[in-house]
Amino acid sequence: MLQQIPGFDLSRQNRILKHKLSGIFIDVMERGKFILGEEVARLEEEIAAFCDVKYGIGVASGSDALYLALLACGVGLGTEVITTPFSFFATAGAIARTGAVPVFTEIDPVSFNLDPTRVEEKITPRTRAILPVHLYGCPVEMAPLVSLARRYGLAVIEDAAQALGAAYKGKKAGALGDAACFSFFPTKNLGAFGDGGMVVTQNVEIASRVRLLREHGAREKYRHDFLGCNSRLDELQAAILRVKFTCLERWNRRRREIATLYGELLSEQTTAGGNTLKLPFEPGHVSHVYHQYTIQTESRNALQAYLREHGVGSTVYYPLPLHLQKAFSGLGYRPGDFPLAEEACNHVLSLPMFPELTGDEIRHIVGLILRFFKK
Ligand SMILES: *Cc1c(COP(=O)(O)O)cnc(C)c1O
Repeated sequence: MLQQIPGFDLSRQNRILKHKLSGIFIDVMERGKFILGEEVARLEEEIAAFCDVKYGIGVASGSDALYLALLACGVGLGTEVITTPFSFFATAGAIARTGAVPVFTEIDPVSFNLDPTRVEEKITPRTRAILPVHLYGCPVEMAPLVSLARRYGLAVIEDAAQALGAAYKGKKAGALGDAACFSFFPTKNLGAFGDGGMVVTQNVEIASRVRLLREHGAREKYRHDFLGCNSRLDELQAAILRVKFTCLERWNRRRREIATLYGELLSEQTTAGGNTLKLPFEPGHVSHVYHQYTIQTESRNALQAYLREHGVGSTVYYPLPLHLQKAFSGLGYRPGDFPLAEEACNHVLSLPMFPELTGDEIRHIVGLILRFFKK
């Protein structure tokens, strides 16, 4: 029988945590506080402490975390924010929602992250912030980016939606800029049973502004100082996340083990077959949390079809770069503007990655990949 291995599977984790998590529903129901209660406050403290920053503010999603953090840093109509064209739509969508213009810049083809050496040429008098994305869980080369931002007086907001627990030069993602945004979408390294997100920051003004913005800019009940929106993390989601958060470091370690095993088993192909397959590269000064394990090959579509035929799931994150999205056609970008990002869209493939994946499953997946390249 065909061995089926999904690209992502929560059912194994939920089976292990079933008993603990079921109790949470009853606890929260009996306490009867569903919006901004103790669980949200505790989770905010726990995530902030984990990142070694002072403040955490729970919001309704990772997308809203970006939107509110941008607003809190003074991004809005008439301003520009420099970001990567190779990310999930929300990265640039959040910029545009504030009224600001997303300004894309080319990626580094090895890390897939925004290339810090190409940011300065994009700075104009309207630039207000830089929004780097720690794609797949690998931190952006932050030191040159932060010093550039300091020189020009720009805010740095990390899109750390895929990177909770990752580190750069000994500092956690979340503590590397002026503010950082996490997502608790169910498939993220720490996932809720629905949507959720958080802004973390060391800056008290950014923190208090995000706190007001998530409640329609109300400093006290029915007294609204400025426009915000309703964007809160539910008490029930926070309670679930607090249980799962106790497992995060173990899960992230397991993701790293899985990546190491993939790397060892696949290295045969990269060395024997020349340029046919590129594996993720983790520089010595970062700790990657492998939200995704993403390989590159010119035969990406054929490899994905072959894996699918043999019962193995895989995903393309992302098939179309942000500068070529229809929603941004008004910005005037063209195919060819960012060849490295466009090439990545055609060559990347994310292999199954979740902490409960077994060694036998990984060996099976790699066996199929090696067979595909020997055909
Ligand atoms: C998931 C994700 C987001 C958005 O988070 P949601 O919680 O789904 O709104 C933003 N940026 C990146 C890079 C993401 O992966």
